[in-house]
Amino acid sequence: MTRTTMTTTTPITIAIDGPAAAGKGTLAKRVAEAYGLPYLDTGLLYRAVGKLAHEAGTDLGDAEKVGEIARRLATDHLDDPALRGHEAGEHASRVAVHPQVRAALVKFQRDFAARPTGAVLDGRDIGTVIWPEARVKIFVTASPEVRARRRTDELLAKGREVEYERILAEVRARDARDSGREVAPLRPALDAHLLDTSELTIEMAFRAACDVIDSSMGGRNDV
Ligand code: C5P
Repeated sequence: MTRTTMTTTTPITIAIDGPAAAGKGTLAKRVAEAYGLPYLDTGLLYRAVGKLAHEAGTDLGDAEKVGEIARRLATDHLDDPALRGHEAGEHASRVAVHPQVRAALVKFQRDFAARPTGAVLDGRDIGTVIWPEARVKIFVTASPEVRARRRTDELLAKGREVEYERILAEVRARDARDSGREVAPLRPALDAHLLDTSELTIEMAFRAACDVIDSSMGGRNDV
């Protein structure tokens, strides 16, 4: 059921940020569906740039060359199912440190956030850089151990051979890279609602997010 008892005509833009594997993608998708809003997984943009650069044999540390790839990114690059993979995530976080790459991807994200209907965007810097005026900002976290366990189980379920310890090390390295970069580091906006999903099921996290959204909208709904 769509939670559309928001009787306002003001578009509602919802920014959902947080570290890798905190559950923000699943949450953002459900929120978008529930409120009937378009959804953009901004990680896909960085994943696509990382994958294209890797395939072209470009050094992922070469800010100028990778920036050029980001400037040429087309939306049909985002449909590739391989972008969801673990390796693409690692490449994404390496190219996401370059200001040239981030700058090239800003307009697409802002245009999406500015849709007249409103929108849900998930990422790392939506509430801080891309759309600081978002009506609702949720920063989704979970402990590194819980995120590594979830990621390990996800990969095992896909038949991949993985070790929890290695995934935990990668989660920590990704956190350090995303939080430590100079441009648009991962951090909650001052006015973000923190949602720690360490002890929550997906359903519980969804309900908690809806409570935040509904109270920010100043209304109730009937789901
Ligand atoms: O969210 P996802 O895991 O798909 O993101 C992959 C990587 O892309 C992140 O680790 C981060 O380095 C980068 N990213 C970013 N800003 C965003 C979305 C993703 O820097 N808005």
